[in-house]
Amino acid sequence: VRGLKVEIDEVPVPVSYGPAFEGQIIRKEDVHVEFGGQRTPSFEYLRMFDDSDAVEDGKVTLEGPDVDDVEPGTQLPLGIVVDVYGRDMQEDFEPVMERMIHTYFNQASGIWHNGQRDINWIRISQEAVAEGFTIEHIGDVLHARLHQEYGAVADKIQVRLYTEEEKVLEKQELAREAYSERDDRIREMTDEEVDTFYSCVLCQSFAPDHVCIITPERSGLCGGYTWLDAKANYEIIPSGPNQPVKKGECLDEVSGKWRGVNEYLEEASRGNLTEFSAYSMMDAPMTSCGCFECIATLVPTANGVMIVPREFDGMTPAGMTFSTMAGQVGGGVQTPGFIGISKLYITSDKFISADGGHPRIVWMPKTLKQDVGELLNKKVEEKHGIENFTEMIADEEIATKEEEVVEFLQEVGHPALELEPMM
Ligand code: SF4
Ligand code: ZN
Repeated sequence: VRGLKVEIDEVPVPVSYGPAFEGQIIRKEDVHVEFGGQRTPSFEYLRMFDDSDAVEDGKVTLEGPDVDDVEPGTQLPLGIVVDVYGRDMQEDFEPVMERMIHTYFNQASGIWHNGQRDINWIRISQEAVAEGFTIEHIGDVLHARLHQEYGAVADKIQVRLYTEEEKVLEKQELAREAYSERDDRIREMTDEEVDTFYSCVLCQSFAPDHVCIITPERSGLCGGYTWLDAKANYEIIPSGPNQPVKKGECLDEVSGKWRGVNEYLEEASRGNLTEFSAYSMMDAPMTSCGCFECIATLVPTANGVMIVPREFDGMTPAGMTFSTMAGQVGGGVQTPGFIGISKLYITSDKFISADGGHPRIVWMPKTLKQDVGELLNKKVEEKHGIENFTEMIADEEIATKEEEVVEFLQEVGHPALELEPMM
């Protein structure tokens, strides 16, 4: 007798299920219905309840249209809210379990998932629908898989699904509040106050040598894992993808190199990588897999960097869109002048601090200015005595070519022009 613990061996869905399907691609013309991907509002959010009665294990509800109600090729909004009760559940476990939605969906044949939080993108293929897969089944996938892997902390799991825009937008507000509370919790920590970082090798399934080293002031590049998340994940699953990495002897305080980190890296990358700097994008930068929230890349003539978020689909001063850039770099290769980063890292005191820090930022799209502007302005004023720094940063309305960026920087007297050459 195992008390409340629910044991589930099989995933009760009408499509094939297993790790073999993780790399699948669902082409546009094969889509029955898709959600998010900047086309419709969409989010995923996992939360815990202290009250056992609040959660009915295995219950899946859908408010709004299901697959049978729409034509092939439809785009719908989607809200996924997963409610968890467990005697050993902790709030710190919420984000790590939430992040697993990505893997759990991709392991279902005919279901494809990308991104996380409120920038996810999900496709269900026509073939999966022909086999009987419905939107409610994604709740069954989550129920089964979370029990399998997080049974130690989750006793009861229910899933609420919404495909009506109004409902999705309403619930999305709740989720966004939780996302920002999670972000605040980690913002108060520093790298100096800990002697252990955490690794993440989850993306090695498609970028074999890629390793994220997650520090309190530099979260995983996908935005899905902070140091607190990685620590929580390790506590729940000690043999999982997040392992403690003792910093050991500090080799370079400025660029952020530690013997313990390098030793771990060498092993985890099977000897392909030997050195990481936590705070430089020029000298032994961390690698990128493919799921970075943003790309930070050198703008040589501006002596600075531009930051492009995944959701920006316009042209950048590098003459490339986000997706072109993302396709060129990544895959776990160390590429000086280029890093994949989380949004959270942009406002970190350690943001490329070895390369000059925030005063290097010369271009970012307006949406990103909205996302990080307030905090960024505050940081730059505190550290560098520059007020309203984001107004000195060019965006797509000011400049789409490198020479226009430089012209603008000269007009506003941008601090990057006064810094040492980056290369
Ligand atoms: Fe982990 Fe990094 Fe992949 Fe995020 S990007 S899942 S932190 S390896
Ligand atoms: Zn990745």
